[in-house]
Amino acid sequence: MAPSTTLTKIPSLQIQRQQRRLLQLLNSPKHKRVSASLPAALLQDFFTADDAAETTSRHQKVGEAGRRASDETLAVHAGEKFTDGADAVGTDSIATPVVSGTTHWFKNSEDLIAFKEGRRQSFEYGRYGNPTVKVLEDKISALEQAEATLVTSSGMNAIVATLLALVPPGGHIVTTTECYSEARAFICDRMGKMGIRSTFIDIDQDMESSLKDVLDQSDDVTLFYADSPTNPMLKCLDIRQIAELCHRKGVLVCIDSTLASPINQKPLTLGADLVLHSATKYMAGHHDVIAGCVSASEVLISKVRAWHNDLGGAISPNAAYMIIRGLKTMALRVEASNRTALLMARLLEAHPKIERVHYPGLESSPWHHVANTQMTGYGGVVSFEVKADLHGTMRFIDALEIPFIATSLGGCESLVQQPAVMSFWGHTDADKANNGIRDNFVRFSFGIEKFEDLRDDILQALDRI
Ligand SMILES: *Cc1c(COP(=O)(O)O)cnc(C)c1O
Repeated sequence: MAPSTTLTKIPSLQIQRQQRRLLQLLNSPKHKRVSASLPAALLQDFFTADDAAETTSRHQKVGEAGRRASDETLAVHAGEKFTDGADAVGTDSIATPVVSGTTHWFKNSEDLIAFKEGRRQSFEYGRYGNPTVKVLEDKISALEQAEATLVTSSGMNAIVATLLALVPPGGHIVTTTECYSEARAFICDRMGKMGIRSTFIDIDQDMESSLKDVLDQSDDVTLFYADSPTNPMLKCLDIRQIAELCHRKGVLVCIDSTLASPINQKPLTLGADLVLHSATKYMAGHHDVIAGCVSASEVLISKVRAWHNDLGGAISPNAAYMIIRGLKTMALRVEASNRTALLMARLLEAHPKIERVHYPGLESSPWHHVANTQMTGYGGVVSFEVKADLHGTMRFIDALEIPFIATSLGGCESLVQQPAVMSFWGHTDADKANNGIRDNFVRFSFGIEKFEDLRDDILQALDRI
C-alpha cells in the first residue's frame, strides 16, 4: 500500500488523466446519479480493471480530497471532451460542430437494425435528436447531476411537454399561486379544459401543512409543480420537505429552477424528481436565444420526450450550439451576478428612498434560512419597492443609464422593469393586488457589468425620484 502522502506527489499528468476519467464517468451512460457527497463511491466506479496497478489507498485519497469535477469545469467540458457525443460529431474540433442535417443515413439494413436495437448509437431524424443537441443535453445532465436531459425550443415547451406527460387526463396537479404566469395559465385554463384538476397552494400561508392536507384529501395527485425561487418575489420553497411529503404519497416533484440556474441550486440533489429551466435565461446567458430543458431519470425523461416528439418543439442545432457556448461561462457569469445582487440588495435595504427589498440573500428575508439550506448563491434578480408612486417609480427607472428597460433576466446585460407598467399596464388595481404587484415595485436582473458602475447608476437614479 502506498502511503497516503503519495497523493501530493502524483505528477500533474497523472492528475490530468484522473480528471479526464472523472469527466468521462460523469458523461458515460452507465453512470447513473452522480453524487457530490459520495466522491469515494464515484471513484470506485470510475477506476476500472486497467487501473489495478494503482493502489486503493490512492483512489480513496483522491476521493477524500473531493476531486469531483467542479461546476466550472463541467460547464466547460462535460458533454464534449472524451465523450460519445464528440465521437458522434466525428471531428477533432475543440468547438462542438453544429450538425445541421435533419436526417441521418444507415449503411445497410443491418446497420439500421443495430441502431433500432440500441447496439449502435446514432440519430434518425432531427425532431427526435441531433448530435449537437445531445452534447448540450449531456452537459446539462452533468451540471444538474441528472441521468438524462431533454432540451426544447423554449422554456414553455419544456413545461408543457412535462405537464402533459406526467398528468393524465382527468388527473390532478398541485402547484403554487406563484409559479411562472404562463405555466399557471396553462395549468388553469388549458389543462382545466382537459378535465385536469389543479390546486394552487399559497406559499405564504404555512405551505407545508396546506400541501399535506391536499395530499391527504386526494388520491389522484400525480405531480407537484413549482418555481423556486419565485418570480418576481424571490420566495424559496423547502424542496427537501416538499419532496418528502410528496414521495410519501407517490407524487412526483418538478421544480422550475430558472431563477437559480444549475450553479446556485440542484433540485435533484434535494429530492426533486425533475428540474426544468428556461435556458433562455442564465444558461444561454446573452439575451439572444430562446430554449428550455428538463432533467430527470432516464425513465421520466423518456416519457417527456415521447410527448415532446409529438409536440414538435425541437430546438435548432444552431440555437443548441449558442447555449453550449453560453454555458461555458455560466459559472463565471452567475457568480458575478450573485455578488453584485447581494451587495446591491444590502445597500438598497439601508437606503432612505427604498421601502422594501425582496432577496433571499438578505437576513431580513423570510426565505433566507431555507435558501441557505439549499442554494449556494442567491441569484442575480433583486426586487424592491421604491418610496414613490407609479410616476415617481417611472422617473427612477427612466433615470437609469446602464440597465435596459426590458422583460426577461439572466443575461450579461442588466435589465430593469416595473411590472405595473411592463405586464399590468391598463389592468385594474384589484388585478394588480391579486398578483401582489404594487405601482412602486421594481424587478432588477443584474448582469455582469461592474458592481461599482451599477451601484453609482442606481444611486443617482434614486436621487431623481
Ligand atoms: C422565462 C421563464 C419561463 C419561460 O421560458 P421561455 O424560455 O420564455 O419559454 C419559465 N419559467 C421561468 C421561471 C421563467 O423565468
